[in-house]
Amino acid sequence: MCGIFAYTGKVGKEAGGVLLDGLLSLEYRGYDSAGIFLPEAGSVRTPGAVAELRKKIPKDFKGKSGIAHLRWATHGEPTEKNAHPHADCEGEVWVVHNGIIENFKELKEKLLAEGHMFKSDSDTEVLAHLVEEHLKHEKSFEKAALAALNEVRGTYGIALQYKKEPDRIIAARMGSPIVLGLGDGEHFIASDPSPILPHTKKVVFLEDGEVAVITPDGHKIFKLDSTNVKREATHIDWSVEESQKGGYEHFMLKEIMEGPQVIEDTLRGRLIADEGMAKLGGLESVANELKNIERIIIVAQGTAYIAGLVGEYMLEEYAGVPVEVEYASEFRYRSPVLNQKTALIAISQSGETLDTLEAVREGKRKGALTLGIVNAVGSTIARETDAGVYNHAGPEISVASTKALISQLAALVLFTLFFGRQRSMGVKTAKEIIAELKTLPKKIETILKSEETIAALAKKYANNRDFLFIGRKSNYPIALEGALKLKEISYMHAEGYSAGEMKHGPIAMIDEHFPTLAIATVGSVYEKMVSNIHEIKARKGPVIALATEGDKEIGKLADDVIYVPETIEMLSPILNVVPLQLFAYYFAKEKGLNVDRPRNLAKSVTVE
Ligand code: GLU
Repeated sequence: MCGIFAYTGKVGKEAGGVLLDGLLSLEYRGYDSAGIFLPEAGSVRTPGAVAELRKKIPKDFKGKSGIAHLRWATHGEPTEKNAHPHADCEGEVWVVHNGIIENFKELKEKLLAEGHMFKSDSDTEVLAHLVEEHLKHEKSFEKAALAALNEVRGTYGIALQYKKEPDRIIAARMGSPIVLGLGDGEHFIASDPSPILPHTKKVVFLEDGEVAVITPDGHKIFKLDSTNVKREATHIDWSVEESQKGGYEHFMLKEIMEGPQVIEDTLRGRLIADEGMAKLGGLESVANELKNIERIIIVAQGTAYIAGLVGEYMLEEYAGVPVEVEYASEFRYRSPVLNQKTALIAISQSGETLDTLEAVREGKRKGALTLGIVNAVGSTIARETDAGVYNHAGPEISVASTKALISQLAALVLFTLFFGRQRSMGVKTAKEIIAELKTLPKKIETILKSEETIAALAKKYANNRDFLFIGRKSNYPIALEGALKLKEISYMHAEGYSAGEMKHGPIAMIDEHFPTLAIATVGSVYEKMVSNIHEIKARKGPVIALATEGDKEIGKLADDVIYVPETIEMLSPILNVVPLQLFAYYFAKEKGLNVDRPRNLAKSVTVE
C-alpha cells in the first residue's frame, strides 16, 4: 500500500527532482494523494498523483534532502489535509508512513490531552506528535524516534525527518517494506528498490522491528531495543519494472503471494478474541439499525460477486439472516422488494464499479440500509454507502482479482461474526471461528509452497480445450471462481458447477478429453463429493482433486491431487481458492498470454 521515498545527499542533486522522479516509479503501488517535504523549502501536498504534485511545486522549492509519499488511504479520506507528509504541532518533525497504526486512537487521545493539535484524520499523524513529545525528554532525534516507535502497534514502513537535523533521515519497518539505497555521498529510503535504481544498485533491505538512520555519508541499522544490526548490502540487477513486481514475473503472481499478509491486514485490530467479537469501526454508526435487519442483499460483479455467494453461506448458517446475492447489473433493472429492514451490501475492490454503484443508489431510493465492502478508501461506493468495512488489501494491479477476493472473504467472516453475535451465534462458536481465522495466513503460506506442483499440473492440462470445476456448499462458488479465472486470463472454455447438478445435464459433456477439478476438502459434503468424482471417473473424465492434507484415499481415485491444510468448513473457501488462482496463473503463463492484462478486460469497470 502506498509508496515512500526519501533522499539525503551532498553531491549537488536537487532533492525535489530526485524525489518526484522516484515517486513516479512507485505509482504502481497505488495513490490517491501525494506529498513532499524538504526541510529547506517546506511541504506541498495534494490529492491525485505525481503529476498533480508537480503542478503545485513552486520554482524555488529547493533543498539537499527530503521525504515524499504516495498515499493509498486507510484512515481518513484522500484529501489534501490527510495527504502525507504529516507534521507535529510546530512543523519540526515530519513523517511519511505506509501501513496502519493500530493503536492510533488511544495515542491520539493521550496526545490531545497533553495539548497536541491535530490537523488530519489519518492514523499517521500521531507518529509526528509522539516524536515531538519524546523530544521534550530525550537528548536526540534518534532517541525520541525510537521511543515513539516503541509505543505504536500495527504496521509501518516510515521515514522521519527533523527540521533541525535536515541531513539525517530515520526509517523503520514493521510489516511494510523498507529498503535503503547506499550511494556515494547520497543515501535513500524507499518502499521498494525501483526509485533507487537510477542512482545506485547497492541496497539494504530492512527487516521487521529494525530502524535505520541515513545521512549523505552513511547509514546504520539497529533494532527497536537499540541493539546494533550488521547487514551486508545486496547488489540489485533488477530493472525498475522487475523491482516493482518484487522480482516476480507478473503482478498476478505477486498478488497471490501476498495472500497471507492480506488476511492479516484485513483482520488487523478487528477481532476481540476473548469476547468472540468482531470490532468493525466502520459499522459502529449503524450498529442499532443492524440489530433490526431481517434480510441482506449482496450486490456485486465478477469475482466480488463470487465473494458474495460465499458470504451467503456464512451469513445464513452462522448469523441466521436470510441472504440473497445478485449481480448488481441485474438488480438495478428489476423491481427489487426492499425496505428499512433490508441491508444491501455492495462488494467492490475499486469502489467505482458502475453497476454496483447504481445498485447502491437503487437500494437507497428504496429505503434499504446500504453497506460497503470496498478496498479503495474514499471511492464513490465507500462514500455513498451508509457505512462499511474497508479491506485494507492494498492496491491490486493485475486485472484478474486474487488478493482482493481473499480479503473480501475475510471481511465477510467479520460481518458474519458481527451480525451473528448480535443474533444467535454463541460465544463458543465465535471463539472457534476467530481462533481458526488466525491460522489462515500460515496455512496459505503452506499452500503457496505447492506452487511447483500446481505449475506442473497446469502444464499437463494446458492443451485441453475445456475445463470443469465442481464443488458443493460454500465451495460451489469457489468452483465458479476457478472457472472464471481460467476464462479471464487463459481465454479457455471453463465452467463451474455445483457438483450435485452434474447428473442433471453437464455430465453429458464428460469424456477422456474433458478434465474436472473437484473441490473435495473435508467437511459435511465430503462423501457426496467423492461420489461425484466416482461418477466422472466412470465416464473416463480426468479428475484433479483439491483435497485436505492427509487424505490418502482420494489419491487412489483422482488422477491428480492438490493438497491444502485442514480448516473448518466455513473458512475452507478462503484456502481452496488459492490453488485455483495459482492454477489459472500457470495455465495462462504456459500458453504465453499477457497474464496481467488479459484482452478485452479492464481493472475497474466504470461503464455499464
Ligand atoms: N494509514 C495511512 C493513511 O491512511 C497510510 C496509508 C498508506 O499506506 O498509504 O494515511
